[in-house]
Amino acid sequence: MANRLNNKVALISGGATGMGGASSRLFAAEGAAVAIVDINAETGNALAAEITKSGGNAIFVKCDVSKASDVEAAVAAVQKQLGAITVLFNHAGTIIIKPFLETSEAEWDRLTDINVKSMYLMTRAVLPQMIAAGGGSIVCTSSISAVAATPMEVAYNTTKGACHMFARAIAVEFRDRNIRCNAVCPGFVKTPHGLREVKELQAHGVDVSEAALAAQQGRICEPEEVARAALFLASDEASFVNGTHLFVDNGFTAI
Ligand code: NAD
Repeated sequence: MANRLNNKVALISGGATGMGGASSRLFAAEGAAVAIVDINAETGNALAAEITKSGGNAIFVKCDVSKASDVEAAVAAVQKQLGAITVLFNHAGTIIIKPFLETSEAEWDRLTDINVKSMYLMTRAVLPQMIAAGGGSIVCTSSISAVAATPMEVAYNTTKGACHMFARAIAVEFRDRNIRCNAVCPGFVKTPHGLREVKELQAHGVDVSEAALAAQQGRICEPEEVARAALFLASDEASFVNGTHLFVDNGFTAI
């Protein structure tokens, strides 16, 4: 086992599947005690069991990250079982693909709650214990969508723009307490979220064909490639990296 996260307690929201799942496996393999925090109890429990079986330390805690009471209970449960959280990966999120003029107020609010308010709730719940522990690292999943817009994604693009700035603002306010906060910004990734996004965009006539994707980012990204970038930001190797946006997109946003 490698040891880049030895003695760290990592809470990964959305840690059951996709990039979150890949990060749960990788962070545990790097020595962290991992709390998988997700609404998907079946997959989350199975992943925690898989990690434990292979010699890692992982627990699953069910939580809807958009609900304050759920988040507070989950963070308290993690602290009780694993100790003070020193790595927080705010990864849980979802997407709505719809023409802007057909997006209802309820849909707008729900997406904002899951993608943005969740970061506020989770970070607010974790920061006091992270500061008391002497500091820590927060990684927020933003996206290429924070800076590159796609038709049918006005609501989603807006939420990711907010995640982008949330990471930067937390970094500036808390760096004097040894807290780092950065955003990881993936391109199109082969996860349930990413594959649904491609399918639904295609259904709305947006060109996300293999050829279009190849022109933009070469190929689809693997979840493990994002997990490795998140690991760097989470670990002490990134000790002076704070308030940054790390794009994992093979040049999508560089063109
Ligand atoms: P995913 O769908 O496999 O993972 C999302 C995880 O979040 C799931 O385990 C899901 O159960 C969990 N989740 C969703 N809503 C939740 C809630 N309310 N409370 C708790 N958990 C919840 O896909 P993924 O691509 O690894 O993750 C999606 C995240 O990645 C989002 O933040 C999304 O904006 C971001 N992202 C995805 C891509 C991509 O192409 N896949 C690209 C850029 C950014």
